[in-house]
Amino acid sequence: MINFKKVSKVYSKDSVALRDIDLIISSGEFLSVVGHSGAGKSTLIKMILADEHPTEGAVFFESVDIHKLGNKDLTNLRRRIGAVFQDFRLLSNKTAYENIAFAMEAAGKTDEEIASDVPHVLELVDLANKLDHFPHQMSGGEKQRLAIARAIINQPELIIADEPTGNLDPVNAFEVIQILKKINDLGTTVILTTHNRGVIESIGKRVVTMEKGKIIRDDKDGKYII
Ligand code: ADP
Repeated sequence: MINFKKVSKVYSKDSVALRDIDLIISSGEFLSVVGHSGAGKSTLIKMILADEHPTEGAVFFESVDIHKLGNKDLTNLRRRIGAVFQDFRLLSNKTAYENIAFAMEAAGKTDEEIASDVPHVLELVDLANKLDHFPHQMSGGEKQRLAIARAIINQPELIIADEPTGNLDPVNAFEVIQILKKINDLGTTVILTTHNRGVIESIGKRVVTMEKGKIIRDDKDGKYII
């Protein structure tokens, strides 16, 4: 599904974020990317969302070179990807229901579709009783579950979660990971970045370890060795 071919990202002479990365992520995988701060994890994610461009090499989404797309095609590609971040990025002046409805409106969904789908997705993330709450009335774990609901509402093929448990206590982190696992079990590819060893061990799937812009390990069985 995603193919990095010899990707390097040089921000400046002293700041090289990715060095000659080759990485294939298959459809249906749950891939965790681990490594110390500054290892290049976020830059790797930004390459898939085309928030940053490679200095060398190419990134493919299926057969499409992401960084050769024009604006319109890029918008269409981004619709196929759901993204979740450490800082939630919810709309603070909208309720849980409205945060999700807004994402559906942006994707051209009808009022009927919104009225029927929003309660279902809130149920899936165990927030059915919080639909009229604003983000400031929700815990960190609830906010992240809402962000996941928003990320999946338009049925993306890929979910990218960049440090989604970074602001959460272990219980809430575990719940967020369980939801990502459930989404993966339902067929969506998941790419997760994390520092959290417990999180990785509870997933038990492929782990890529980064150090100084390179991939130094690629383990099939969920090991976190750094
Ligand atoms: P991680 O997500 O693993 O913490 P990052 O991808 O954020 O790592 O950063 C990798 C390296 O690239 C770091 O040395 C960081 O300082 C550098 N870097 C990241 N973004 C920028 C930027 N916009 N400008 C300059 N250097 C950057």
